[in-house]
Amino acid sequence: MATNTRYLGLIDRYRSRLPVKDGCRIISLCEGDTPLIQLHNIPRNRGLDVEIYVKFDGLNPTGSFKDRGMTMAVTQAVSDGSQAVICASTGNTSAAAAAYAARAGIRAFVLIPEGKIAYGKLAQAMMLNATVLQIRGNFDDGMSLVKEVASETPVTIVNSINPYRLQGQKTAAFEIVDALGDAPDYHCLPVGNAGNISAYWMGYSEYFDDSTASHRPVMAGYQAAGAAPFIAGHPIDNPDTVATAIRIGNPQSWDKAKAAEKESGGWFDAISDEEILATQRMLAGEEGIFAEPASATSVAGAIRDIKSGRIPSGSRIVCTLTGNGLKDPDIAIEQCGKPQIVDATLGAVESAIASAF
Ligand SMILES: *Cc1c(COP(=O)(O)O)cnc(C)c1O
Repeated sequence: MATNTRYLGLIDRYRSRLPVKDGCRIISLCEGDTPLIQLHNIPRNRGLDVEIYVKFDGLNPTGSFKDRGMTMAVTQAVSDGSQAVICASTGNTSAAAAAYAARAGIRAFVLIPEGKIAYGKLAQAMMLNATVLQIRGNFDDGMSLVKEVASETPVTIVNSINPYRLQGQKTAAFEIVDALGDAPDYHCLPVGNAGNISAYWMGYSEYFDDSTASHRPVMAGYQAAGAAPFIAGHPIDNPDTVATAIRIGNPQSWDKAKAAEKESGGWFDAISDEEILATQRMLAGEEGIFAEPASATSVAGAIRDIKSGRIPSGSRIVCTLTGNGLKDPDIAIEQCGKPQIVDATLGAVESAIASAF
């Protein structure tokens, strides 16, 4: 007889390490357990002597790592008797909030910035039956509004200022250590609101504290150059970048992320939009991995820092790919152009193929 080993999501897998009350109803879509893929072609093609992996969190149920936090936040909200959740979002948080609220049978309200949201994410929030309010303002404006609304109305905030979000997200670090047998030397992440880098640091620290891991990685956080408050050293107005998921000027987890940088001996750095998009194409074209622009920021930063020697050769590196490339089809098509049109004849197809070599 075969045994039933069906994976039931990250709360089931890491329950002893998560603040989940006994007997409460778990709201899960079997999130987590995402692939840790070793990059082969990218380092070989550039002569980089490193062992580098991507944690492809774009393969979560709604296509981003936000599902890790949302299973915890919505499970807690339901356990507390909440009938509705609310968030401000550059897109992926709204998709995850909508999905987990639907699963729980409660309402989701999402505030998204006007005109700056990837189409796939908007489609998800709408289809998953959230009430979507597009505000005439940016993410930071939405975040302030959400805090005000929640102080006056019985709705649960499920942005990463909700501590259960980071608890869920720390499980990605557990999965990496469980897969590799120890922590990597370096961990590279895109940074927007800075919740995820804080969550990884928490996860690595917990495994280190009970000796499940022998050390903690150096944490490297990369921001888009036009939305880089950590590099400026203070929050900025009017952040702008093609990587809409990290178009944030006033990170909510500032202090936690700064602590992770300091305690790990890590750094923050800025990546231009051109570099972000070139790396997105590199991951797709050379490794077959289609991640959204914000995600490519981690790999762009890692490659730059390996080349400069800041990350020494021989290192073992993990980069988080936070979201799925399908989230933002417009950016992909814009970069790659339209398919070529040929006559429906053998000759036309054969000559098109020959000219591709
Ligand atoms: C939310 C998000 C980020 C940024 O994560 P923070 O925790 O806000 O720093 C990066 N990439 C993608 C795809 C995201 O959805």
